[in-house]
Order: sequence, then C-alpha cells, then structure tokens
Amino acid sequence: MSETLDGKHALVTGGGTGIGLAIARGLAAQGAQVTITGRRLEVLQEAAGDGLHAARMDVTDEDNVRDTIAAAVAARGPVQICVANAGIAEGRKLHKTDTELWRRIMATNLDGAFFTIRESMGSMLQTDWGRVLAISSVAGVRGLPGAGAYAASKHGVIGMIRSLSEDFIGGPYTFNSICPGYVDTEIIARNVDSIATRAGMSAGEARDVMVNANRHKRLIAPGEVAAAALWLCAPGSQSVNGQEIKIAGGQVAG
Ligand code: NDP
Repeated sequence: MSETLDGKHALVTGGGTGIGLAIARGLAAQGAQVTITGRRLEVLQEAAGDGLHAARMDVTDEDNVRDTIAAAVAARGPVQICVANAGIAEGRKLHKTDTELWRRIMATNLDGAFFTIRESMGSMLQTDWGRVLAISSVAGVRGLPGAGAYAASKHGVIGMIRSLSEDFIGGPYTFNSICPGYVDTEIIARNVDSIATRAGMSAGEARDVMVNANRHKRLIAPGEVAAAALWLCAPGSQSVNGQEIKIAGGQVAG
C-alpha cells in the first residue's frame, strides 16, 4: 500500500483499545506518526511502536488535554489528523439518570471531543491540510432506548462537527462524524454484563440484543470503522465534509 500519510502527525484519543487502536494502526500503516492517548498508560505502552506513540491524557481534564497535545505537537509537529474517539457508554433510562452519570457521560463524550478538537486545531490551522474525525454513533442520529445521556452526547458531537464544517467551508480541512452501530470491542463486553444484570438475561441473550440491533445482524469489526476513517483521510475524499458516515449494516431510521 502506498504511504499516503507519510510524515503526517495524527492524534487518536482512546487510541490504545478497540476502534481507536484500529484507526491508529491503519493511519500508521499509511505512514503517519500517531499519538495515541487514554487514561491507562500501561495499555497505551502495550500498543505503542510501529508509528504509535503513547501519551497519558484524560479528555475530561482541559488543562491535561492542552498540555498533552502541546507536548505531542512539540515532539511530532502539527496535528493534521485529529480523531476524537475516546468515549464511554453506560445505559440508563433518562428518567432514572442521575446528574452524576449525565455529567460523566457529557464530560467524556462531548466536553472531551470539544477539548481534543479545539486544542488540535491550534496547530492544524498553521498547515494547509487537515482532517477532523469524531467517532459518534448511530445513537448520534437516532434515539437509543435506555441510553438517553449517551445518545444526547453523541448527537452533540455531530452538531459540533457540522458547525466546524461550516466555519471552515472551502478550506483545506474537513470535519466528519463516523457513526457505527454495535462494534465488537470492550464497550460491548461491558454492555453485555450491564444488560444481562439489568434485564435478567444470560450473557448470550444480552449479546444477541446488540447483534440484532445491527441491520445485518452481526457485530461490526473495529477494522470496518477504521476503513472509513482512512478513506476520509485519503486523497479523493476532500469534498466529503460535515457528514455523518453510518456504519451499521443498513439504513438507520431516525
Ligand atoms: P473502548 O472501551 O475500547 O474504547 C474507549 C476508549 O476511550 C478507551 O481506549 C479508553 O481508554 C478511552 N477513554 C475513555 N474515557 C476516557 C477519558 N476520560 N480520557 C481519555 N480516554 C478515555 O470502546 P470502543 O473502541 O468501542 O469505543 C470507542 C468510541 O466508539 C467511543 O466513543 C464509543 O462511544 C464509540 N462507539 C462504540 C460503539 C461500539 O459498539 N463499540 C458503537 C458506536 C460508537 P482509558 O480507559 O485508558 O482512558
């Protein structure tokens, strides 16, 4: 494969696991130097190497995001690919959602994406090419039963990306959201336990709930999400801007 991203610095939050790690590896395979971040340094260090560079960063901590991205820019140059991927998923019906859970989900999924993108853009805007991707969800384009706070946070991410695409329209930067259905990662494993406990199901039955929620009745592989991210960073996708790319095995009804 030709190394189309040779020398570009990419930042992937939550890049030590799941979807983020698949994207980070895909970008590195194209020649990018990729800063991967998360709260667990040991997980990041395990993944590091072959173009992946570990940096501890909690996306809910504004100062930590600013300082970590500044250090990554000093080490590897301006962030020209920013992937706001870090997120948490916890299901609870909205009328039973306490303020602590609401704030925790918003702080990670929405504030975290905002801090990450804002701090990355400081250096990106000094260059003549940039890609900003946010990993939203099908829950960003439709309601998700039993997960109101999560769905609200993912809708918020899409609003932010759409607005950025308008702010910089016609420029050399694009801003897009990727909206997967259920992807086979640790989040799913944790959700299986949570759904099984709350609904009184077996783990197998809880997993089937998620498998059947995808239109093609199978879990999506992290690499399928990474493929979309790579396309959005590849030559030829420069007119795709302000979009929500749904990866859900079929149409997602609103
Ligand atoms: P993972 O749990 O593997 O990934 C989540 C990542 O986010 C972890 O690497 C985690 O690292 C990081 N993270 C969580 N909180 C913070 C924080 N406060 N600061 C920094 N990093 C943080 O699951 P996925 O790969 O599935 O999730 C990635 C994204 O994809 C999420 O935004 C999720 O909402 C979204 N998504 C997932 C779907 C799925 O079915 N799996 C479907 C649709 C969207 P650490 O714990 O070390 O901080």
